[in-house]
Amino acid sequence: MTKKTVLVVEDEPTLVMGLQDVLEFEGYDVVVAPTGREGVSLANLRKPDVVLLDLMLPDINGYQVCEEIRRRDPFMPIIMLTARSQEADKVRGLDAGADDYVTKPFSIAELTARIRAIVRRASRLPDATPEFIEIGNAKVDVTAQTVERAGTVHRLSYYEIELLRLLHERRATPVARDDILTRVWGLEATPSNRTVDNFIVKLRRKIEDSPEKPEHILTVYGFGYKLV
Ligand code: CA
Repeated sequence: MTKKTVLVVEDEPTLVMGLQDVLEFEGYDVVVAPTGREGVSLANLRKPDVVLLDLMLPDINGYQVCEEIRRRDPFMPIIMLTARSQEADKVRGLDAGADDYVTKPFSIAELTARIRAIVRRASRLPDATPEFIEIGNAKVDVTAQTVERAGTVHRLSYYEIELLRLLHERRATPVARDDILTRVWGLEATPSNRTVDNFIVKLRRKIEDSPEKPEHILTVYGFGYKLV
């Protein structure tokens, strides 16, 4: 198997060195960009299998880098590294086109698990038969990773697709938040992990006619979510 390449866009030298050591030990080729602009150009030149993108960079911020990369490549997996704990920043990162995020300080085990999961999904062969999921007025094209609603097409990230598939598989049945985290992200559930909720916010914006009053992706309080 050919080596996968990870592009690390981060300006903090000690963190870069630590990440480089760990990722090389895990068998990845590591490319480093200490500024946002270099990150954008290396993403285009090297076509990495995954981008680790810091939010706070010396020139342009991580959101801008993410948008720039997305303009040319809608599917390059991007994991945002954020030092902030505000949920709004994470959702904004996902809105900018990131596939996933981790909050600093993160555990190396968690980060490498997320990288492995995203690389595995990205390299999965596209299904031979097109797969569509209809939810209300939204039509999800699982193979193309898009959703069309009210004449607008949105891109869906790997995790958004996987999350929808799981909810659809068990439609009309509540799916526990912990179960989603384990099945979709391959992560241990921790009470502080708001990943699932943030992705639900994103999905509702793309699928629901009025995301504030969802009619299809419903919250089951204190438990999880249900697709109807
Ligand atoms: Ca930084």
